[in-house]
Amino acid sequence: MEVTVLEATEDPEEVVCKAARNDYSEEFVGDQSFETTMETIEGDSLTEKKETLIGHLLDHGHFGPFEHPQITFAVEGVSRSCMAQITRHRHVSFDVQSMRYVSFDDVDPDDVREGELVVVPPSATDPDWVGRNQRTDAVDEDAVERREEIFRDTVADAVESYQELLDLGMPPEDARFVLPIGTEVNMVMSMNARMLMHVADMRAAADAQWEIRNMTEAMLDHAADWCPLTFDHYEREMKNRKNRLAP
Ligand SMILES: Cc1cc2nc3c(=O)[nH]c(=O)nc-3n(C[C@H](O)[C@H](O)[C@H](O)COP(=O)(O)OP(=O)(O)OC[C@H]3O[C@@H](n4cnc5c(N)ncnc54)[C@H](O)[C@@H]3O)c2cc1C
Repeated sequence: MEVTVLEATEDPEEVVCKAARNDYSEEFVGDQSFETTMETIEGDSLTEKKETLIGHLLDHGHFGPFEHPQITFAVEGVSRSCMAQITRHRHVSFDVQSMRYVSFDDVDPDDVREGELVVVPPSATDPDWVGRNQRTDAVDEDAVERREEIFRDTVADAVESYQELLDLGMPPEDARFVLPIGTEVNMVMSMNARMLMHVADMRAAADAQWEIRNMTEAMLDHAADWCPLTFDHYEREMKNRKNRLAP
């Protein structure tokens, strides 16, 4: 899996601060320098002032200003299962690679056995992996070996069957029904900073599945560069709060 940033609002935290100052200001923020807009906020430097205001907004649940900055991620090689989970978030915009344009023509079934084209969950190969609702009892090594064998053979068979159905003239949009839910897909998704915090609340949490959690952690790493003050405050003060239903 790879998560990269395609595009993001420039000076996102300046936009957040201007929007928030607009709410309580007699003056029109559109006509002012940023320094003037932030004049009455506590802090010795502009960065300190931004930190004060952003912390205050987040602590008081004033989340609207964080809806202005937008970020667009390109994600390579997640499973269709992960894609189904993330696309439940209704305030995120998506483009998802169509399976009709994914050719398995040149795919060697042995590559599929190696984990190409289909995401192999760690639990298929790692004897120490413990699932979300599993007990931590030691697992027999032979069982793990057999688990891996079944997993890899089943996906390789499915890909071979898909190719055979295409060769027999079945339309790709119907033949794909036999492909596993672990089949890799690329996505582009855009969201605002508030939504990114909400997605992180739900998907970087311990009870989220490992794959969407890894993807969300990668998005948060980018967010730390993009909106450093906001996501630093989020990580320190908000990530582990009890009521995670907002932002
Ligand atoms: C660990 C985990 C397990 C899950 N298991 C399942 C499962 O088994 N089956 C399943 O179907 N889903 C499951 N989900 C998905 C979950 O139920 C949500 O659909 C998903 O996380 C989207 O988040 P959201 O509801 O906050 O909505 P989002 O679309 O992210 O919207 C953000 C916020 O906007 C508000 N909002 C958006 N739309 C509405 C609306 N129509 N009405 C009122 N408020 C709205 C809500 O405050 C919402 O929290 C699971 C999620 C997690 C994290």
